[in-house]
Amino acid sequence: MTEILHSYIGGQWHRPGDTGRTLLDAATAEPVARISTEPMDYAPVLNYARGVGGNTVRASTFQERAAMLKNLGKHLTAKIPEFTELSLFTGTTRRDAAVDIDGGIGVLFVYGSKGAKELPDSHVLLDGDVELLGKAGTFGVQHLLSPLLGAAVQINAFNFPVWGMLEKFAPAFLAGVPSVVRPASATAYLTEAVVREIIESGILPDGALQLVCAPPDGLLDTLTGQDLLSVTGSHETTAALRRHPVVASNAVRYTAEADSLNSSLLGADATQETAEFDLFVRGLVTEMTQKTGQKCTAIRRAFVPHDLIDAVENAVRERLSHMPIGDPRDPAVRIGPLVGRDQREDVRAAVTRLRKTGRIVFGDPEAVPENFASTADFDNGAYISPLLLRFDSPDAAEPHTIEAFGPVSSLLPYDNLDHALDQIARGEGSLAASIVTADERIAARAVAAAAPWHGRLLILNSDNAAESTGHGAAIPHAVHGGPGRAGGGEELAGLRSLSHFMQRTSVQGSPEFLAALART
Ligand code: NAP
Repeated sequence: MTEILHSYIGGQWHRPGDTGRTLLDAATAEPVARISTEPMDYAPVLNYARGVGGNTVRASTFQERAAMLKNLGKHLTAKIPEFTELSLFTGTTRRDAAVDIDGGIGVLFVYGSKGAKELPDSHVLLDGDVELLGKAGTFGVQHLLSPLLGAAVQINAFNFPVWGMLEKFAPAFLAGVPSVVRPASATAYLTEAVVREIIESGILPDGALQLVCAPPDGLLDTLTGQDLLSVTGSHETTAALRRHPVVASNAVRYTAEADSLNSSLLGADATQETAEFDLFVRGLVTEMTQKTGQKCTAIRRAFVPHDLIDAVENAVRERLSHMPIGDPRDPAVRIGPLVGRDQREDVRAAVTRLRKTGRIVFGDPEAVPENFASTADFDNGAYISPLLLRFDSPDAAEPHTIEAFGPVSSLLPYDNLDHALDQIARGEGSLAASIVTADERIAARAVAAAAPWHGRLLILNSDNAAESTGHGAAIPHAVHGGPGRAGGGEELAGLRSLSHFMQRTSVQGSPEFLAALART
């Protein structure tokens, strides 16, 4: 029998008492690991974080924590090949695993480096300068940020078992707050493997990071106003946890990253001959296929000028038709399976709903995909073809409301920019949008209209394409999160995210006293 996943709680590894349920290889349905189904008593876990973890983490300065993040990044970098092999079980190709694994470790380096360069060697952050409030100059106010005294509880989605943990952990730790990580069940074995390495490295102080591989029931019941809850997952899950009575009544700081109907718009300045046409098509195909479309930032809605939509459709179909699909262990394969067959059923159901007003122009959600590798097992693996849908009018409701969390995107024609920008807003809040244009006037109008609806906007053209990080990459320097449907949360954005884990306080007093606060 496969090994059951352990939790790392109270400073030691804990083996669950039950046999748990089996987690399956996405490509073969062979057992990979088991995860406990027995409820856990979370109160001691949270108390350990608040007590031991909080004290040990806050004993160090920002500079010292930044150095620990860098060292942790170095330690984990040496283990990337092992993590990548394990990631294959989740259905992720080696190339796509880098987005999760190398990307997650990259967040540690960026926060380590930014912390070392931009933060003081102290325990609180000053926010602005002393402002004098009286004519005689004897009274003023200074704002400061100090770390919350609770735990940063993370509930993560299945698609980024490494990045999802590390992108939340790095800013929390740098701010001075310990983390309790609850990974999504389907891919928790990869998170567990990374946590084992983190703990073995001995770099982090006691209690800085705990891992719970158990049902989440009861995890929220003892949260206080000094704790934080960050949830990444579906709209249903994030909305339900937001309404949790303890979260609501204790004003627990809550951040959600949820579904998002991200868009990409090709400017009307493009023609089939321009570099922007090609950039748009390549970006769309990458977002449809990378991690088999299981990316929160993936392009779901592609807006194309009416007279270019046939050309875009043909170019996307052409590229998709050359991409081998199969077992991620096969080096020729570009698109692996979905994480599991339940996920495939969810994607098929969402596509059925999208087909109410749209038609599929590439792929068949039920059939063996084109270019299916002979080495792969269609009956047992969670395989699905990339699916390109086309809508004759962007006014239909479905493409703006239904997220198929797989290799699925929709082409939507538009006649004028204002109409397209109105349609983009119908996603009711998204993580990211890209505007592919060489015309600065189009870009400026798009930014003005789309910014309130998005956490991140990419203006892509031939001038910046070579250095662009791409539509879907959630980089630590930029905001990850979005309003409304995207969950209303905000993560990353460099050191700005530290304030999510800290209390801003106005301290009023004499200017001499306030000046000395910098030394605390
Ligand atoms: P999910 O089913 O909503 O689950 C998300 C997490 O919540 C999992 O760890 C899940 O545990 C846990 N959970 C479910 N019910 C819970 C409850 N009642 N109390 C506490 N925890 C609970 O989402 P998923 O299938 O893992 O991920 C796919 C979804 O996440 C997609 O909709 C995608 O758009 C979204 N997503 C968003 C982002 C972003 O950054 N915005 C990133 C990635 C994914 P189990 O795994 O044990 O069910």
